Amino acid sequence: MNTAPAPRIAIIGAGPGGLTCARILQRHGITAAVHDRDAGPATRDQGGTLDLHADNGQIALREAGLLEEFFRLARPEGQEMRQMDPAGTILFHHVPAQDELFKPEIDRGRLRDLLLDSLQPGTVHWGHTLQTVGGPAGGPRRLHFTDSTTVEADLVIGADGAWSKVRRAVSQATPRYSGVSFLEAWFQDVTTRHPDIAELVGQGGAAAADGDRGLFAQRNGGDHIRVYIIQRVPADWITAGGLTPQATDGIRALLLERYRDWSPRLRRLITDNDGPYVDRPIFALPVPHTWEHDPTVTLLGDAAHLMPPLGVGVNLAMLDACELALAIARHDTVGEAVRAYEKTMLPRSTEMARLLDGGAEELLSTELPDFATADVH
Ligand SMILES: Cc1cc2nc3c(=O)[nH]c(=O)nc-3n(C[C@H](O)[C@H](O)[C@H](O)COP(=O)(O)OP(=O)(O)OC[C@H]3O[C@@H](n4cnc5c(N)ncnc54)[C@H](O)[C@@H]3O)c2cc1C
Repeated sequence: MNTAPAPRIAIIGAGPGGLTCARILQRHGITAAVHDRDAGPATRDQGGTLDLHADNGQIALREAGLLEEFFRLARPEGQEMRQMDPAGTILFHHVPAQDELFKPEIDRGRLRDLLLDSLQPGTVHWGHTLQTVGGPAGGPRRLHFTDSTTVEADLVIGADGAWSKVRRAVSQATPRYSGVSFLEAWFQDVTTRHPDIAELVGQGGAAAADGDRGLFAQRNGGDHIRVYIIQRVPADWITAGGLTPQATDGIRALLLERYRDWSPRLRRLITDNDGPYVDRPIFALPVPHTWEHDPTVTLLGDAAHLMPPLGVGVNLAMLDACELALAIARHDTVGEAVRAYEKTMLPRSTEMARLLDGGAEELLSTELPDFATADVH
């Protein structure tokens, strides 16, 4: 029997990765504190819908004891997919079978609530922005937060996303701009307010591209549609155009000019939106991204392997979290657990990152993606 005192585990980031890790640790009787910079669970829009795959995200949810509840909340009909050309002609239309459950959709906010509600009260420390990780490599580590508080930990898990502060303790790598930017647009109450767009998008997603520009529209829960306007542009394209991100009318005029050859129906996806646009330049970590093993600090999810958004990010984050939590439960020391976890996670994420390297460009391609093998309906 191991009589050593329980390790103090600090998880930085209450995203899908960090929360999944905390939940699975707690199911194995292991305590972990989660620190997140958000002031609370509802202080920021969590973003669009996510599909959780049977071979990674759903595995993590099963270990978390939340798979059944996930299927109750998820939208399998969200697996519907249409690919169009810029004239609006449907090139491919996938309608999921009744029992198709490989990658049902769930809103990010719902997923976060599912995970949060499963944790012991007080697990997440909100409004706690990590600044640096100090202390010797052999531990204990000292976490410095922007409110001048500090916390000592025997293991620091960086689940703090693309711009991870924990990453700096083990790696010099920083994300690089992919050359492709998303601009997010929202459509509320689509059944009554935007019926034509609701019909165009269906229950899942609708995409179109012309080689330089793209559109990807996704139905979310709550009668909401989110559209990503995808362009090959410099990261500062809005300010370089003499605009600010808040200049909705000016951005709309610029987009209308850029999409002038597209069908009027598709152009409504960039003009009829409710509220402002949200600028999301796409960054990725260099490939491969690895680091020398450190027994007191490790990374998971985007902090470890930020990739272009091609539908795997959250799934890999949750699988990492699951494997790390199980490794901690199964090893005598956190150092051994981290070594075992990284032995699997680093090659897996390197392989996927190689596959997706430069993949943001694929979102602009006129070639039909691999999934477009079924009949056009
Ligand atoms: C536009 C877009 C669309 C996407 N669509 C999909 C998709 O359809 N499917 C998919 O699988 N993936 C998608 N992704 C990728 C996916 O969002 C990420 O891979 C996933 O969220 C990573 O989870 P995570 O837990 O590692 O990090 P995050 O979800 O980024 O969570 C990090 C958490 O850390 C907190 N944090 C950050 N810094 C600090 C700090 N210094 N101190 C304390 N807390 C901190 C943040 O508040 C946040 O809660 C998309 C990404 C983008 C940009």
